[in-house]
Amino acid sequence: MMASPLPSLDSLLRTPSVAVLLARFGRAATTETLRHVLADRRAGQRFHAPDEEILDQAADILAALFERSQKPVFNLTGTVLHTNLGRSPMPREAAEAAAEAMRSATSLEFDLGTGKRGERDNHIAPLLCRLTGAEAATVVNNNAAAVMLVLNTLALGKRVPVSRGELIEIGGAFRVPDIMSRAGAILHEVGTTNRTHPRDYVQAIGPETAALMRVHQANYAITGFTASVPTDTLARIAHDANLLLIEDLGSGSLIDLARWGLPHEPTPTEALAAGADVVTFSGDKLLGGPQAGLIVGNKAAIAQINANPLKRALRLDKGRLAALEVVLRLYLDPDRLVEKLPALRLLTRVEADIVATAERMAAVIKRAWPNRPVSVEFCRSQIGSGAMPVDLLPSAAVAIGGGALESLAAALRALPRPVIGRIAQDRMWLDCRCLEPAEEAAFEAQLPQLV
Ligand SMILES: *Cc1c(COP(=O)(O)O)cnc(C)c1O
Repeated sequence: MMASPLPSLDSLLRTPSVAVLLARFGRAATTETLRHVLADRRAGQRFHAPDEEILDQAADILAALFERSQKPVFNLTGTVLHTNLGRSPMPREAAEAAAEAMRSATSLEFDLGTGKRGERDNHIAPLLCRLTGAEAATVVNNNAAAVMLVLNTLALGKRVPVSRGELIEIGGAFRVPDIMSRAGAILHEVGTTNRTHPRDYVQAIGPETAALMRVHQANYAITGFTASVPTDTLARIAHDANLLLIEDLGSGSLIDLARWGLPHEPTPTEALAAGADVVTFSGDKLLGGPQAGLIVGNKAAIAQINANPLKRALRLDKGRLAALEVVLRLYLDPDRLVEKLPALRLLTRVEADIVATAERMAAVIKRAWPNRPVSVEFCRSQIGSGAMPVDLLPSAAVAIGGGALESLAAALRALPRPVIGRIAQDRMWLDCRCLEPAEEAAFEAQLPQLV
């Protein structure tokens, strides 16, 4: 069949079916895209095409242009606080507080009592102090920013001894030595990879030393013949030399997780009680809130940190401050924390519950792929984000076999709400820990859309 020659842009814009595109995507984007498609065809010497074919091509391009790039996904990787998948899910009230703050004017830096200018950190600092026992607190963009700001404020141009066993890389560009040098401080390595002793720090201290620093061993564990210096001993060494002790906790749960049968992670309260002067931790790891870097510690140090001009460059916006405030307030009532804080709820979910979800989902998945072997298997989830880096949490997965696993994974990723699992031992594993019963229906409803 002979197709019609390439139409003009004007004639395309007059066709009745372009109205759908104009209504959905607007005149500017539609016109621009049609012009682009026509130019492309002219350049490729493809002069003959019916109007509908050109409009369809433009519709596909426009649909892709207008499709949201960051999408909610089902995190069935088995890593609860998955950095690439946005870490901690937030409580609904926190997300709503953020949305509300972002939609309107707020008392962000306005003191409603006096009618004068206020401080944005005042919305969260008193809560943080109450929850950690700190004298003062402040907050910045994330924990990497917190570490950088603390070092830049307290150790600019000076030395900071850190154990060689703590010179971590957390992924991406966060390496302790790099952050330290960008912050303008000089890393002074002490001890060895597996063993560092109090005398290593004592011998390192000199006139150029600004502070001692302890970094939580995130993402890995050193086992075997090991020694490290606990916070209280290190604080004593620092204070004897009139120095500050900085502790980067990384995950830093606000409450001892042993209460819920999880392994103990050091808390900021413990670090401060043991003598640390400044403690940093993340808002979106075990804390279960928005991305943020929390800094708690003694009044003088926090005042100095707040006076650093870099603080302005690293500060939090009103949306995240609003969310963080809501999340911190949940910690005032630890008895109901599991119920209210999604991150903790997922981490403490009991195995039998997860097995039940996995069994229901296995049935659903069998219908989607009648020819693939599908079974419910025991597995272990990870906490993620560097907290307790070993697989610890007994869980259950739907395991899907039958080869061509990469295309299976691609089909799952192409769903309206992409499903992200993990391929291991020639099977696709969908760890059901993070698929809560309330979301099962949504998971099931989209499976018929598999291509
Ligand atoms: C995660 C982590 C960081 C970085 O925190 P972000 O909030 O991701 O910036 C720094 N130090 C330690 C020990 C960590 O575990």
